[in-house]
Amino acid sequence: MGDANLNSGTYLDINLSKIEENAKRIVERCKPFGIDILGVTKGFTAIPRIVEAMIRGGIDRLADSRMENIISLRKKGFTQSISLLRIPRLSSVKSVVEYADYSVNSELSVIKGLSKAAKAAGKNHKIILMIDVGDLREGVLPEDALDIAKETTALEAITLSGIGTNMGCYGGVLPTIHNLSLLIETAKEVESITGAELEFISGGGTSSLKLIESNEMPAGINQLRIGEGILLGTDTTHDYRIPWLHQDAFLLKTEVIEVKIKPSIPIGKTGRDAFGNIPVFSDNGLRKRAIVALGRQDVNIDGLIPFDPNMIVLGASSDHMVIDITDSEQNIAVGDLITFKLNYQGLLFLCNSKYVSKVFY
Ligand SMILES: *Cc1c(COP(=O)(O)O)cnc(C)c1O
Repeated sequence: MGDANLNSGTYLDINLSKIEENAKRIVERCKPFGIDILGVTKGFTAIPRIVEAMIRGGIDRLADSRMENIISLRKKGFTQSISLLRIPRLSSVKSVVEYADYSVNSELSVIKGLSKAAKAAGKNHKIILMIDVGDLREGVLPEDALDIAKETTALEAITLSGIGTNMGCYGGVLPTIHNLSLLIETAKEVESITGAELEFISGGGTSSLKLIESNEMPAGINQLRIGEGILLGTDTTHDYRIPWLHQDAFLLKTEVIEVKIKPSIPIGKTGRDAFGNIPVFSDNGLRKRAIVALGRQDVNIDGLIPFDPNMIVLGASSDHMVIDITDSEQNIAVGDLITFKLNYQGLLFLCNSKYVSKVFY
């Protein structure tokens, strides 16, 4: 079923109703806290049917880090508010104001560029000023927030609509009452100094859901930007499977092209592998191995988790992945499909691979 071309032998099974349910559960769980959810579409290259499932689940605002995805959403007729989640390139301000309603920002020169572009287009562009509360990716340091906020509110065709922060991405910093309270305090100072009324205080992504679960989300945060939780039901930063969400909305199936019993150590003098690394093997005797038609051209293999816990991914070159199936109770043969769960990275790669068909159900 679905519209996939299965010639590739490798396809991604996408369960739209599980994605819809995950979205719905997150939206409903955050509502009592006064928190609105931005549905983040970058994890799946903004594939329209998945975006529609999110919307059916109650998401009414979208966000992506890539202008290409945002432009394609607009061209496909999505009229929802869209936020650009990666701070804009100075060279892209014209298209940012044309296609996105909001963008996150941390550089005054870019905000000035957005102002100029918005004015020229007869539009108003909304800015979420990113504050770095410790993760050390994007954002102005809290002590510099007031100055840049003042300059931003003075610009034409620009509205300072909110402040936000990002965590768990670069430095692995976890969202806490402490660092989110710092964000809320900064928001209050920005409001009192600039007179701006901030529409959003945006308190992070999936990793912030933990504070909702534990009832510790500080009052004042009114937006979270959620991708991973909706798609995979996991929270990588906390190494946590969110128990009230589905973890199997995406499953990768790939065809077995060889099954043989072989020694576990290569035979002969060894050099480097196809990627220049020196491989290391441990001797577990003769093992039954399956090769599937999938490789590093398609995915970072660390992003794949065999659905059968008795299978072990041994490694992969560009087009072949080797799996130890000795302990599996399934009698795997050539032509069978092996199923994998994905992590966020695996999902990102697979959605970007033109060799992987997408099947919706
Ligand atoms: C990707 C991204 C998110 C979404 O993060 P998830 O962990 O997928 O929920 C939120 N904010 C920004 C700025 C992002 O780049």
